[in-house]
Formats: sequence, structure tokens, C-alpha cells
Amino acid sequence: MKLTVEIDPESGFCYGVIRAISKAEDYLASHESLRSLGAIVHNSLELDRLRAKGLEIIGTEDMEHLPSGEVVLIRAHGEPPQTYETARRLGLELIDCTCPAVLQLQGKVRETFARMDAVGGQVIIFGKRGHAEVNGLVGQTGGKAIVVGSPEDIEVIDFNRPIALFSQTTKDPQEYRILADDIRGRARSSVEVYDTICRRVSQRYNSLKDFAVSHSVVLFVSGRDSSNGKVLFDLCRQANPRCHLVEQMSDIVPEWFRDGDTVGICGANSTPKWQLEEAADRTASMQTIC
Ligand code: SF4
Repeated sequence: MKLTVEIDPESGFCYGVIRAISKAEDYLASHESLRSLGAIVHNSLELDRLRAKGLEIIGTEDMEHLPSGEVVLIRAHGEPPQTYETARRLGLELIDCTCPAVLQLQGKVRETFARMDAVGGQVIIFGKRGHAEVNGLVGQTGGKAIVVGSPEDIEVIDFNRPIALFSQTTKDPQEYRILADDIRGRARSSVEVYDTICRRVSQRYNSLKDFAVSHSVVLFVSGRDSSNGKVLFDLCRQANPRCHLVEQMSDIVPEWFRDGDTVGICGANSTPKWQLEEAADRTASMQTIC
């Protein structure tokens, strides 16, 4: 069986994730361990690599048991203000790796909420309920922002009151447009819509679609719990039905391929380049198996 294998040049970690991982690795180069509030990246293989260097993942509730002076990393998704208050109260030192784009969004949500609250308005966040970034955004409004998980989920909004709409940075731009148009169509008061999807995510939409249609088979390498991975995988599968999700290299099986296939390897913003290369090597090895 002859296969042509190509790695998507646009795939690999986004800036925010690269920055958080390199800060963790810098620290671990001279310390035995480092605690991260939540998974630094939604990718189990990359997490295993970092765990081997001394990274330990904890929840916010675990902060209460840490001794004063202990160092805790905040990942690119960011945290609500309560986490910073808890760290201050317990005397914990923070390595804050909140992505600058998320930090800017948190500030905008906070400022808009203060303005909307004064006129009886609502702040709506289009995002995944319980996701760390969404929790961090809701935290900027004292828990008062309304989270809308999908365009079908808008009954929770009061259309008689002013509305300010934001999106989690990794949501599907098309879904966000549909939601915004629907809200504008039903609103009986003012509607402000903020374009807050990460540029990296929105730009990748077009390039990834082109990449998926230009190959006969697509392997999308990502952790199953990566929110960005889910969105981009769905997009690839819509563009090319022969698209497979790969979490472990052993997921790749000869049955996926036919003689002469061109195989495109791509991934989420949380997929490291080394995993794309491993997937390409494993795919290439299928030629000798068959
Ligand atoms: S996807 Fe964008 S906003 Fe989110 S961490 Fe990466 S660079 Fe930052």
C-alpha cells in the first residue's frame, strides 16, 4: 500500500499554550515539582511528559492544603478573581500563565458587566459550562453572567433587557454568528456583540477546512476533552467524512487507509508538534503492514 503523508503546517500549540508550558518547564528545570491548577493542556500524552518532569495537577480546593510560600501555576485558560484571593489568603505564590488574549477578554467582561449591571442589562457568555476559561469569565461578573452553551439554548436570556454578548475564545465562529443573529432578531432592547473568538482559532477554521478537503484521509490528533479539539475535529469531519480522531498512536489502524491515499495529519491548539510527527511516522509504517 502506498500512502502520501503530510503534516498541517498550521497545526500545533497556540501561543498561549506554548507560553504556559515553557514557563512550567523553566521552573521545573531548577525545582523538583510544580503544581498546576487544572490540566495545563488538554492532551494526555503531553501531560504525561510534563508529569515526568514534576508537574502535578491540582484543583482549586487542594490549594487550602498547601503550605504558605508554595508555588502554583495558573494555566492559559485563566481563573476567576476568587482563585487570586484564595492564593493571597494562603500566602501562595502564583506563576500566572493566563493567555494575554484571555486576560484582555476578562477585563472587557468585567468592565462591560459594571456598565450593564447599572442599567439592568445582562452579560451573556457563549461557551462550555464549567470550562475553566468560562468560569474565569463568569467570575469577572460576580457569578452573574449567563452562560449559553449552544444557539438552541437561548431561552435563558431576558430579551426585554439590554444584552452584551461575548464568546469563549475557542468557540465555533459560525455558531457564534448564528447565535448573535438570533439574539439580535429577538431582542426588544439594545444588543452589543463582541468579537472575542481567538484570532488563531478563527483563522484556523478556513485553513483547516482547505487542508481537510485536499487530502483523502485526515487524522486529527487531539485529547478527547479539549474543547478546541472538539470544535476543530467536527469541522474537519464535515469537510471530509474520512476524518479520524487520534488520541493515542495505537488508535491509528491499517483499515483506515486505501492504496494511493493522501493522508493529512492535523490537530488542536493543544496538540504538540511531536505528536503530529509520531502520527505521521505511524501512518507511514502502515505501508509496510499492508
Ligand atoms: S486559543 Fe488563543 S486565547 Fe486560547 S490560549 Fe491559545 S492563543 Fe490564547
